Amino acid sequence: MAGRRPHNQLVVGPLLGSIEAGGTKWVCAVGSGPDDIVAETRIPTTSPSETLGEVLEFFSRYPALEAMGVASFGPLELRPAHPKFGFITSTPKPGWSDTDLVGVLEEGFDIPIGIDTDVNGAALAEGTWGAAVGFTSYVYLTVGTGVGGGAVLDGKTVRGLVHPEMGHVSVRRHPDDGFAGLCPYHGDCFEGLASGPAIVARWGDEPRNLAPAFRISAAEMEAHYVAEGLRNIVFVLAPELIMVGGGASKIEGFLPAVRSRLQESLADYPGLPEHDDDSFVVAPGLGERSGVAGGFVLAIGALTNR
Ligand code: ZN
Repeated sequence: MAGRRPHNQLVVGPLLGSIEAGGTKWVCAVGSGPDDIVAETRIPTTSPSETLGEVLEFFSRYPALEAMGVASFGPLELRPAHPKFGFITSTPKPGWSDTDLVGVLEEGFDIPIGIDTDVNGAALAEGTWGAAVGFTSYVYLTVGTGVGGGAVLDGKTVRGLVHPEMGHVSVRRHPDDGFAGLCPYHGDCFEGLASGPAIVARWGDEPRNLAPAFRISAAEMEAHYVAEGLRNIVFVLAPELIMVGGGASKIEGFLPAVRSRLQESLADYPGLPEHDDDSFVVAPGLGERSGVAGGFVLAIGALTNR
């Protein structure tokens, strides 16, 4: 549960706006952080004009806001000097390609606006309030409707020409898997084989609804693909900690299965005991709150960088 600001207590920090912009809903919150929320609302993702109109209307009730952060679905344009900085670029989400998020918010409110991907925001939030506190380089991976990862290296989210697209790396196939994969761009990339819709398309139903033998096979195959994705991440980004959340992580015995598969897949290379420890791959500490916490952490970043 989100903390509510108690009466008669000092304000914890500046009043901030947090936006978790998702493909089905936008969660907008006002407060100083995920444990100090004074107001929150959910707005369905319909058309950009309708959804953004409701977002502006909600935040306009809080004139004392000092900064706002947006943790958004993407892909996003995040190069500060680019004319389309702060835009959602070429999303498969109908109607949302080429949508100016930051511009609309800047027009509505004369305060600093921070933006990053939902998963980069979630990663930063985990480092501020969750499972990655005390670490400087870590990855937040979500395996659900899609597969996406955010990375913080040396305290900063990874951004270059574009943000990481960890869901689209290649993974070695499970020897028993003949499924073609669902990614509209790559077919059998990580997301194409491991997302929730891929599991349902391959097996005909959610793992929990399958007969026990199939349920076990589905869980084992999912752990295989997530471990394959993590192996890429381990070798490319060298994180100190990986957090795995999303719907698929709720499969019974999922994290222990992923850890053991990852250990096999790394094959004792480069031989770090940390990679084999149960504390290397963990569940996110903020759970369902990581998105809205991501918005807050981005708002704090916008405020301090002004
Ligand atoms: Zn793909």
